Amino acid sequence: MTYPDTRLFIDGQWCDAADGQTLPVVNPATGAEIGRVARAGKADLERAAQAAQKGFEAWRAMTPAARAKIMRRAAALLGERADRIASIMTQEQGKPLAESRGEVLAAVDIIEWFADEGMRVYGRLVPSRNDLSIRQMVIKDPVGPVAAFTPWNFPINQLVRKLGAALAAGCSVLAKAAEETPAAPAALVRVFEEAGVPAGVVGLVYGDPAEISSYLIPHPVIRKVTFTGSTPVGKQLAALASAHMKRVTMELGGHAPVIVCEDADVELAVRSAGAAKFRNAGQVCISPTRFLVHESVATRFAEAMAAHAAGLRVGDGLQPTTQMGPLANSRRLSAMQDLVQDAQAKGAALMTGGKQMGEAGNFWAPTVLADVPLDAKVFNDEPFGPVAAIRPFSRLEDAIAEANRLPFGLAGYGFTSSLKNADLLARHVEVGMMWINMPAITSAELPFGGLKDSGYGSEGGPEALEAYLNVRTVAVMNR
Ligand code: NAD
Repeated sequence: MTYPDTRLFIDGQWCDAADGQTLPVVNPATGAEIGRVARAGKADLERAAQAAQKGFEAWRAMTPAARAKIMRRAAALLGERADRIASIMTQEQGKPLAESRGEVLAAVDIIEWFADEGMRVYGRLVPSRNDLSIRQMVIKDPVGPVAAFTPWNFPINQLVRKLGAALAAGCSVLAKAAEETPAAPAALVRVFEEAGVPAGVVGLVYGDPAEISSYLIPHPVIRKVTFTGSTPVGKQLAALASAHMKRVTMELGGHAPVIVCEDADVELAVRSAGAAKFRNAGQVCISPTRFLVHESVATRFAEAMAAHAAGLRVGDGLQPTTQMGPLANSRRLSAMQDLVQDAQAKGAALMTGGKQMGEAGNFWAPTVLADVPLDAKVFNDEPFGPVAAIRPFSRLEDAIAEANRLPFGLAGYGFTSSLKNADLLARHVEVGMMWINMPAITSAELPFGGLKDSGYGSEGGPEALEAYLNVRTVAVMNR
């Protein structure tokens, strides 16, 4: 299984860092170094920023239809390469091949949807209040070159949501994708290159994340900042962006409540939330994390969830039988160890898992904790791993209050057979996305984003395009 080294993409060229520096890329299933990624220095970043300005001028000068044609060509190339890119993604990130392939194909759909939506960016004419010789126009323009920062959990999906919307709006994008998973984003950028985007419209750099963000965010060329990652880093970057009056979209952490009511279909809840919980080994911002289960069904739910978790086949994502791969990096392993030990010390019952697996790689057994006290870390800090934490409730109002207790507000889930409970959950759980009696299903046309500490702005639907557009009023008197 081959794995490519990754270079920087600046001004339409793949290149090494000016000083030749590189960083290692490690396969999380084996712990072995599988490749290198170029590490950009300031000279590279400056060149990339200037290229993004040049690319913006070329891209905004094209019609939306011409841009859409190039984007559709990129989507087609990506679809043709789905298997190869999936194998690259699994080697660097760890998720099972089927999940990697699904992510690539979802990206095809996202690019196509945004390509079309870019042709529907309209302004409007507003009649003058007192003089019909005045034409008042509302015009939408691309905001300018965008600095995009994306994480390692969905190497392609996190980038394509930003790229798709920004390019459709007429912006250029200078991306810093995650150093841990560099080759899949590079494969995504390559399809745009081959589809014919002018030089500088898309740029890709890697290096020291803090060094790159502190250089690019204040840079006068950059007009918009978009980040996906943890809440603490998002707050730092949003503060820096606001000091320089840059537009911002922040897609940050979550701690998704799953409320299972006494009238819920418990089997459906376990099947649906169980699959979502262990997808990508729990390293998903909308992963279900706080299971609040009515006391009348709590034991049944916890036992069924533990059986589901214990039955998962954990292994190298390249093996076709694998259902859950390793954690993406060793930081997540120590985080799981800490969360589980803390919960047990505070009185939670370990139903299954709770330990590292295998001799090599970052494997953590799918874990279920029951009767978890509210002060356990796992009920407060985003777990970002394969740990399900369950606690019983007796009144739905209390479960909703618990769901809203944390500063996060990204995703939520509910299971109930009553319209009344479904309505209560829909109205009162404070999240940007709520799924009732079903797993999370996201698509390009639906808004994707959070409330509170989970960030602001949307990465789906027409709202995602608005985030890359300036709105201007122009009035002309016919004289
Ligand atoms: P982290 O906070 O160090 O990094 C998260 C991401 O932000 C990484 O991709 C990293 O490269 C980038 N980053 C970090 N500091 C940066 C900076 N100063 N400027 C620009 N980018 C920067 O955390 P981590 O150990 O990689 O991941 C752990 C936590 O991050 C998780 O617990 C989870 O909360 C969060 N996370 C969230 C998502 C998401 O989809 N929202 C994705 C990955 C990680």
